[in-house]
Amino acid sequence: MINSLLPNYARIDLAFTRGEGAYLYADNGRRYLDFGSGIAVTALGHAHPHLVAALKDQVEKLWHVSNLYRIPQQEKLAQRLVDCSFADTAFFCNSGAEALEGGIKMVRRSQQENGHPERFRIISFEGAFHGRTLATLAATNNEKYLKGFMPKTDGFDQVAFGNLNELRAAITPATAGILIEPIQGEGGIRPAAPEFLRALRTVCDEFGLTLMFDEVQCGLGRTGKMFAYEWSGVAPDVMALAKGLGGGFPVGAVLATEKVGAVMTPGTHGTTFGGNPLAMAAANAVLDVLLEPGFFERVDKLARGFRPKLDELVTRHPKVFADARGAGFLVGLKCVVPSGDMQTKLREAGLLTVAAGENVIRLLPPLTVTQGELDSALEIVDKVAKNWAA
Ligand SMILES: *Cc1c(COP(=O)(O)O)cnc(C)c1O
Repeated sequence: MINSLLPNYARIDLAFTRGEGAYLYADNGRRYLDFGSGIAVTALGHAHPHLVAALKDQVEKLWHVSNLYRIPQQEKLAQRLVDCSFADTAFFCNSGAEALEGGIKMVRRSQQENGHPERFRIISFEGAFHGRTLATLAATNNEKYLKGFMPKTDGFDQVAFGNLNELRAAITPATAGILIEPIQGEGGIRPAAPEFLRALRTVCDEFGLTLMFDEVQCGLGRTGKMFAYEWSGVAPDVMALAKGLGGGFPVGAVLATEKVGAVMTPGTHGTTFGGNPLAMAAANAVLDVLLEPGFFERVDKLARGFRPKLDELVTRHPKVFADARGAGFLVGLKCVVPSGDMQTKLREAGLLTVAAGENVIRLLPPLTVTQGELDSALEIVDKVAKNWAA
């Protein structure tokens, strides 16, 4: 008989009752070091005092009014995101896939309203992950996720990650834009080379295409800068954000340049829940912390110290780990042994991680992680790897 809860997840038999900073407390009485952060969502750890206070304050005042009315907290968040990014305008929704959908619609409409009604196709990259809605599944183009959900939504073409020749060959008169994660998360922590991102910008400018970045996972401080694209020196025309934006409250956003955003006139797109006062209180509180002077410098410094230690683990345990990869606190260890077993052993030893493609385990500590917590995590990984060989 089917469970009353849809059987679409292979859940780990563990439930948590409380969280504090980088730690989660389970109903089995154990404490876990949380280097999964709810899949890169709890960017400021659990129960961050500033987030708790902001939410408590808002929860007593007003939760939801709908986008029929002005929402000052949205205006504030939009201005802050515009001020710290390439963008001129922002739209708020509730999840990553929704941000991607909104961005994809903007890519199409800005072409179609600017003299190119024939342009609708978007080129994405192998190994990508853009979400589970029908359009984002087509952009993701992963057989495993598409099985049973055919036909695939039309309008997406896919080329090898990092292959400029293949990309150029895939451009047709129907191409509207290019969609890429500056660092592939689910695909196995695969960073795009900065030169590749710069080349995409050049190609888009040459052909009049719209460049869209998916920073749902790699954005908002994960790499030690506000946005991962900053490391490449080039900016997109449209960008999707979500995961860390609400610090655990569901918030997504689409950022866009004026040219792209201007076509989204009243009635062209919308959401009932998106950007409600409660969600905006969470996201504004997250930005309060991220935008504190020195916040990213601290993340960058800690991450730069952490990364070589991961490389050392790989050197020390060549039968267990193949390589270390990623940037900032979006890092992974590619395993030689099955990554699922590694994840289980790490959890049994008190460290929570997340699996990714290419047999990688992801380490996604909260951006507020301490040196001591990073050292503890490394000790656990080292111990588990040592016992593996024994
Ligand atoms: C998680 C993720 C998404 C989808 O976000 P949801 O909130 O699960 O819809 C899209 N793109 C990237 C890069 C992601 O990591």
